[in-house]
Amino acid sequence: MLTPFVNEPFTNFQDENNRKAMKLALTKVKNSFGHTYPLYIGSEKIYTKTTTPSINPGKVSETIGYMSSANRELAEKAMQKALDTFETWKKVSPEERASYLFKAANLMRERKHEFSSLLVFEAGKNWAEADADTAEAIDFLEFYAREMIRLDRINETLPPTQIPTEKSQLRYIPLGVGIVIPPWNFPLAICVGMTSAAIVSGNTVLLKPASPTSIIAYQFVSLMKEVGLPPGVINFIPGNPNEIGDFLTAHPKTRFISFTGSKQVGLHINKLAANTAKNQIWIKRVIAEMGGKDGIIVDETADLDQAAQQIVASAFGFQGQKCSAGSRAILVDSIYDQVVSKILDLTKTFTIGLPEENHPIGPVIDQKAYDKILSYIEIGKQEGSLLLGGSTASGDGFYIQPTIFGEVDQEARIMQEEIFGPVLAITRATDWQEAIQIYNHTEYGLTGSFFSKDEHRIQQAQEQMHCGNLYINRKCTGALVGVHPFGGFNMSGTDSKAGGYDYLLLFTQAKSISRQI
Ligand code: GLU
Repeated sequence: MLTPFVNEPFTNFQDENNRKAMKLALTKVKNSFGHTYPLYIGSEKIYTKTTTPSINPGKVSETIGYMSSANRELAEKAMQKALDTFETWKKVSPEERASYLFKAANLMRERKHEFSSLLVFEAGKNWAEADADTAEAIDFLEFYAREMIRLDRINETLPPTQIPTEKSQLRYIPLGVGIVIPPWNFPLAICVGMTSAAIVSGNTVLLKPASPTSIIAYQFVSLMKEVGLPPGVINFIPGNPNEIGDFLTAHPKTRFISFTGSKQVGLHINKLAANTAKNQIWIKRVIAEMGGKDGIIVDETADLDQAAQQIVASAFGFQGQKCSAGSRAILVDSIYDQVVSKILDLTKTFTIGLPEENHPIGPVIDQKAYDKILSYIEIGKQEGSLLLGGSTASGDGFYIQPTIFGEVDQEARIMQEEIFGPVLAITRATDWQEAIQIYNHTEYGLTGSFFSKDEHRIQQAQEQMHCGNLYINRKCTGALVGVHPFGGFNMSGTDSKAGGYDYLLLFTQAKSISRQI
């Protein structure tokens, strides 16, 4: 009998025992640095001549390991393996498919701090951010395993309408081979979520991890091997996106592409996938989770201390490198100055430094991100008044000060474009209604928060704020699997809801079978 889904609890690092356990895991993981990691195609481990170093963004002199790199030939080989394996995997019962996810969740839970430690070193997360990433990965495994079982039993729980002359049923069958392209910012949770949803539904995949965090993805793939997942269900092909990304997206045998990342890349994939290749016999499905320009509104009735605290958490958690990050604060005029000064006071308390030392603010992911964020900070200096930060921070890594601009116009680039870094733009609204208009003035629609104690306004905000994940009186980051099905509107993606009841439907097609009686 299956227990109901519950979220994996977060680790309390105030507890000395937990702190010790985390430090031990950090040391253990550090002692494993320097290895070279292979691709996995079927049961074959392939070490390539070309490898890519994975470096610690908080200490760039430290190399975590070297990742093999697939070229087109290997990508094609992986495609053939995935196609072959699909013929057997699709016949494996949903229950058995789910069992691999349950086993993996258990093992990941046992080795939680080791997975989190790798997130600390490879992604630059502080302990709590890393722990939340691992907890979410466990949640996805537990949730999608249950979801597949639920869908398999749909004829008992929600049967199609029956007519006297026929017996009717519905089956959710898999699509085929999918390309899974997860992001580097939740390199465990989202990688695990996207991959496990696809395979538990009966598909086989080519997993192309994000380059900066490919070793974390490798550890997940190894875990799936360890629990006995048949070879060829997940084929692991890190590589240069220019070399293999377009090739696989355009491949006639690709049935779906599941992508999380920037708007620019998401739109490119969508366009490429819309072309019909020679001998292609389906319309490719694209599941894309893209960017956000998320905002937090505070009105004059709100608990201002709480609002300021949550704005800061939403803007600067993991250095603002979340598509859910609250990069716009929209404050009504009468409390603007008060809230701004609270935001500044809170942000000034943050120390910046090495993720393994668990500072609230760590590095951004790589040189490209660093340059991009710094250039937006220069743009911000022309567009608003710089209240805090505004430059790099010291350290042997990609450190940037948490940066806050005030009095920014809603049309400003830093109010419109996704920066994906520790930059908060604050704007003034005459009242809560104008604040909602400003909030909605974006091409994105991912997350938003509304802080108020006024019931009527809360109702209005619920109706009018156009986003996939709306939060009332809490931060706009930190969606929990099952609790806050996650995904946004408009340019934020294809309206998918990760961690929700309809997510697996995106990886299946429904077959209606009716038999004359
Ligand atoms: N699900 C995460 C959150 O709610 C964000 C995911 C992302 O940045 O891609 O904060």
